[in-house]
Amino acid sequence: MKIKENIAELNRRIEIAAEKTNRSRDKIKLIAVTKTHPVPKIEEALDCNLQFIGENKVQEAEEKIPKLQGKYEEFHFIGHLQSNKIKKLIPLKPALIHSIDKFSTAKKLNNYIIKQQLSVQDILVQVNTSGEESKFGINPQDTEALIEKISQLSHLQIKGLMTIGLFTDDEKKIRQCFQILKEKFEEFKKKTWKNVQMKYLSMGMTNDFEIAIEEGANMIRVGTAIFGAREY
Ligand SMILES: *Cc1c(COP(=O)(O)O)cnc(C)c1O
Repeated sequence: MKIKENIAELNRRIEIAAEKTNRSRDKIKLIAVTKTHPVPKIEEALDCNLQFIGENKVQEAEEKIPKLQGKYEEFHFIGHLQSNKIKKLIPLKPALIHSIDKFSTAKKLNNYIIKQQLSVQDILVQVNTSGEESKFGINPQDTEALIEKISQLSHLQIKGLMTIGLFTDDEKKIRQCFQILKEKFEEFKKKTWKNVQMKYLSMGMTNDFEIAIEEGANMIRVGTAIFGAREY
């Protein structure tokens, strides 16, 4: 295991990509994706100055997040959220839920937060920019209408957009996905919806984070480049 070296190398690559868009390393928020990795390995990464961790399954987060209390700054939920898992996820206090793509889930989440008398939950809206049927996310053309509806919910705050790029070696096609999201992001920034602040553009993973940063990402979600390949 060489997590420390991996993080140093990753930071260097983020810096180079950020410089291409005249930004500094600290303008890109790195979410360390810890899924499938055990608590000691995550602690090792957190000791190397990582502050933000991401999990994609509620059940796994439920097992690991309580054991990491006080060791991270923010826990992000990046996976698909089934509405029946809301009551298990929210007690883990996710700083940001990246994956809201349906009004019904947003409404249930909002209702749960009100019922529990909790404060506002920050979310991102996940957009399917690759057109793959297997991927979650709202279609780009339906995103505006979804945000408009969610913005009526008092206890959710939309902080930006998230996407997963196409899994391919064709860089041009990956880039197109990120361009679609960036275009929507800029378009929505101009709106004056309540409960909406287009702050985060969450795109880019191990295989494509440099392209994502070049296309404007300010939040990337990286697992493999930090922890190595996952074993399922
Ligand atoms: C697993 C995962 C990542 C990280 O993937 P890597 O290729 O390991 O960097 C990012 N985002 C989401 C939504 C994921 O599920």
